[in-house]
Amino acid sequence: MTSGNRLGSTVLGWPRIGPRRELKRAEEAFWAGRTGADELRSVAADLRRDSWTGLRDTGLGQVPGNTFSFYDHVLDTALAVGAVPERFAGITDPLERLFAMARGREGAPACEMTKWFDTNYHYLVPELSSSTRLAPADRKALDEFREAQRAGVVTRPVLVGPVTFLLLSKPADDAPEGFRPLDLLDPLVEVYRDLLAELGEAGVGWVQLDEPAFAADRTKEDLDALRRAYDRLAAAPRRPKVLVASYFGELGPAVPVLASTGVEGLALDLVAGASDLDRIGEIEGLDRKTVVAGVVDGRNVWRTDLDAALAKAEALRPVAGRVEVSTSCSLLHVPYDLDAETGLPQNVVDRLAFARQKVDEVVLIGRALHEGRDAVASEFDAAAALAEQVRAAAAQDGSVRRRLADLGPDHYRRGAADVRAKAQRDALGLPQVPTTTIGSFPQTGQIRKDRAAHRAGEIDDAEYESRMRAEIARVVGMQEDIGLDVLVHGEPERNDMVQYFAENLDGFATTELGWVQSYGSRCVRPPILHSDVSRPRPITVEWARYAQSLSDKPVKGMLTGPVTILAWSFVRDDQPLGDSARQVGLALRDEVVDLEAAGIRIIQVDEPALRELLPLHERDRQAYLDWAVDSFRMSTGGVADSTQIHTHLCYSEFGEVVGAIDGLDADVTTVEAARSRMEVLGELGPGVPRGLGPGVYDVHSPEIPDTDELTGQLTAALRHIGPDRLWANPDCGLKTRGEPETVAALTNLVAAARRVRES
Ligand code: GLN
Ligand code: ZN
Repeated sequence: MTSGNRLGSTVLGWPRIGPRRELKRAEEAFWAGRTGADELRSVAADLRRDSWTGLRDTGLGQVPGNTFSFYDHVLDTALAVGAVPERFAGITDPLERLFAMARGREGAPACEMTKWFDTNYHYLVPELSSSTRLAPADRKALDEFREAQRAGVVTRPVLVGPVTFLLLSKPADDAPEGFRPLDLLDPLVEVYRDLLAELGEAGVGWVQLDEPAFAADRTKEDLDALRRAYDRLAAAPRRPKVLVASYFGELGPAVPVLASTGVEGLALDLVAGASDLDRIGEIEGLDRKTVVAGVVDGRNVWRTDLDAALAKAEALRPVAGRVEVSTSCSLLHVPYDLDAETGLPQNVVDRLAFARQKVDEVVLIGRALHEGRDAVASEFDAAAALAEQVRAAAAQDGSVRRRLADLGPDHYRRGAADVRAKAQRDALGLPQVPTTTIGSFPQTGQIRKDRAAHRAGEIDDAEYESRMRAEIARVVGMQEDIGLDVLVHGEPERNDMVQYFAENLDGFATTELGWVQSYGSRCVRPPILHSDVSRPRPITVEWARYAQSLSDKPVKGMLTGPVTILAWSFVRDDQPLGDSARQVGLALRDEVVDLEAAGIRIIQVDEPALRELLPLHERDRQAYLDWAVDSFRMSTGGVADSTQIHTHLCYSEFGEVVGAIDGLDADVTTVEAARSRMEVLGELGPGVPRGLGPGVYDVHSPEIPDTDELTGQLTAALRHIGPDRLWANPDCGLKTRGEPETVAALTNLVAAARRVRES
């Protein structure tokens, strides 16, 4: 049995965490030692079977395989090719080794995790060295092909392609000077040839090799590697047909390269990379290939304009040997099923499609392409009529738009930084090297229970409010005792720094089961931005006012910035992201102004996602940075010079965003710095000439930093910037830490700052 000569309509990948996060629960139980490996494997097998049969039953022409993962598909690929770092080599049990690489174990820290292109998915970075012995190792793709076969479904195994795998890898710590992962191209391609041969022998008709690295800017050398790899793979004996898939943007110069090789199929992202269509007619070699038109957006939650999607697929017909329809990328990035949602307003539901619904769209467009639109005219017409109805009913918020039109950069340019600094010194009277935290305090089990009880209606608003106030009072008291200079209210009322604001702003909807994998067992439920944004009423002001009423020290107001709110949401695709950002910025501006009026003298607007949203292509970056800066300044630019604006960024490599951080014009910027021992100050110190709070200890580690160590960090920082600009604070929020260690660490922080002041 083979999977046939034709791909048929398909999707490039499928979520794996389970419609009710079954995999998450099973893994966490296993990690905690509450269940055994057999139970975990059985949950996983059920999820795989349901995915395969469910997808087959939708009428897709071909179902992707090997899309399941216990943790991450890049890690799975590393295991398939034998790229296991030395420190894990001694672990013989495969599942144990996989989780050790993902999560670390005594004496063997986990592999580094980083963002999967411009998504919120994170993968584990493979580590390679000239001594890495690449060889076919784990047979997951083959095993799952057979398992699907037994369930009656013929699948197309998906693997990360060899060139993307190398481009995403990093040199292992013990790699010789000058070693680059791409040096391993030839041996790695040999391993892929062997893996393909095994799959071919088992009856696999098609495999999919993902090469999304080519949707970003690539060098000539990278393109040469791509050509070399696929020329070699295409020449392999006994192999299945190869579909090379790219996504998250246009493939540009990689299209002719792949077209010139002997691979049978090429999948293009015609949503994010629709511009590939402009030059497609000039490319030679496509007439011998199946071109898969990724016309249903796999990254967002909107229904597809079926006729427009069909037109894109049709445009490929004159140049391609055959055209098939697919999603633009794996559906890993969207929730499972819209039908599982009960609380969304109908006018929003009418615009949405989650993974299940997107598969139906793919099937319909595929039928229209191959059987003619008439064959599915009623479905197409009904979808178009609904879209028209939604468009007609969509109300723009005139007052938001008018306010934005009236508000130019001049309206939110603050006074000169030194003038502000003086006004703030007078207003706040802070010591040198002031001490503070990033916002959240440990979220105790009780707080989580109180929030859940309030959501479930078990306690009323008044009871909820009094419990949260009690917690705020406790946390303020704790900070007074510790001796911190700038206090926070601790964020007990927030489930999540983005969801909380989305729930309180008009224009956003939140889901019940719209979980999307972020990494491993961790999932997020991104809010859905569907309409113009406004703030119906103050959000954080009463909590902040209450906290400030308890102390003479300044209490920082705490908000999430426009870029971060958008980065962690599903966003509108009917207007530029920058326009949405300005709307969020305006809503936050109202909040900032109200906080100031309520007596809050320091306001922090967090932008941990500033770097994250940076476009993949260099040419798009400046425009992004411009609107990112603009929306932040809009949110913070309505206050007096004496009110101090802070921002917090969660990372320590700034590169291209240094200019933008300066552009934010915050009075104080706090960043991660402990792990790099203040190295970041080399970059930011001169580049961002205002207050800086390089984190002096890593909040992700349970270890309590002692006063000497913290003093050392502050002293190191003082080599870069003066004591009038330096702040003392942890790396990030404290919500995942325990309380005793938090108190101990902050007590040492205060002691260290005092030592530094006195010396
Ligand atoms: N204010 C937030 C907190 O302390 C910031 C979180 C973050 O940087 N991601 O939790
Ligand atoms: Zn942070």
